[in-house]
Amino acid sequence: MFLGDLYPIPGNGCNLLLMLYLFGIQGLSSMPIWGWVLGILAVLAVAWLWARQRRLIRRLGGELESTQKRARQLEWERDRAQQELWPRLCEERELHEQKIQFEAQLAEYEKYSALAQLALGAAHEINNPLLGILSHLELELQVTSDPEQRSEIEQCIAGAKRISTTLRGLVNYARPGPLVLSKITAHRLVSDALGFLEGQPILRGKQVANQVPEDLPPIRADASQLSQVLMNLLLNAAEATPEDGRITVSADKLTFVDTVEIRISDTGCGIAPDVLPHVFEPFFTTKRGKGTGLGLSISQAYVRSHNGEIRVDSVLNHGTTVTVALPLHQTGVIEDARPDVEVVG
Ligand code: ADP
Ligand code: MG
Repeated sequence: MFLGDLYPIPGNGCNLLLMLYLFGIQGLSSMPIWGWVLGILAVLAVAWLWARQRRLIRRLGGELESTQKRARQLEWERDRAQQELWPRLCEERELHEQKIQFEAQLAEYEKYSALAQLALGAAHEINNPLLGILSHLELELQVTSDPEQRSEIEQCIAGAKRISTTLRGLVNYARPGPLVLSKITAHRLVSDALGFLEGQPILRGKQVANQVPEDLPPIRADASQLSQVLMNLLLNAAEATPEDGRITVSADKLTFVDTVEIRISDTGCGIAPDVLPHVFEPFFTTKRGKGTGLGLSISQAYVRSHNGEIRVDSVLNHGTTVTVALPLHQTGVIEDARPDVEVVG
């Protein structure tokens, strides 16, 4: 009879009995006392192994539980870090975009200031001899009676005057001068500019509508500079619009910000998408031989000196809208004390 039959032992006990058997102990089991002793020893050994194994399992279970707890803790920390990381990433992206924008503005400013220096130098060098040529031509015209010669001189005078006008525009662009402020309404500015253009051949056959409300809050601005801006924009609109076309001027006070927006819309030829990015560049023109390419760049310089913004939206063959956004107030600039420009309404 085997010890395994007497004492059914699970697991490692069977291995022990097998070992006893292999060592030839089985023969000893025929001696009752040795059999019992060996049996008891085997049972004790198995019980010890069993207890050891249970301790091991319990220890491993404990370790597993604490590892799971630690894993949960790490997961929670990871989630929290992710939550904190997201706003930081957004913030970083915003800072990066601001940096790019700032660098672009800086590059534009550097370009503008280099061009301004060049323009002022060139204007000075050209203007003085030009004035001499003009006065000489005018004297020549007075003493000439031959119609053919007179017409040639007149053409020369017209060309010289054109150069002079361009130079004046260039100087205005390069050095807009200090703002002389007064209170003025958008309605008054637009009415004055339209009144000046009324009856001019350039507006013949075109409908012009002044839809600027009279009750908009007044703007503190340099009326002379803003009049030039409006004239430039209205002339551009008139030049782009066919005879049966329409030019509409409208304005609004923006909600939440102290800004008035003036819009000049036309139903003209529009601007091609590849041309649009260049329209504010000085000397950029699509009107070969007719345009100076300074209207929009000077307007932008004037509007910016008011801390405002100017933008152009256009659809080719449908029309263009130029928007001028002007803050209601300016700080740190000279006030114009003349009562005639202190106009409200
Ligand atoms: P200029 O009028 O002397 O050409 P501007 O600086 O006033 O110079 O305008 C630059 C260019 O922008 C114009 O040549 C024209 O191509 C385009 N442009 C400006 N305003 C308009 C408009 N309302 N409709 C179509 N094109 C326009
Ligand atoms: Mg123009």
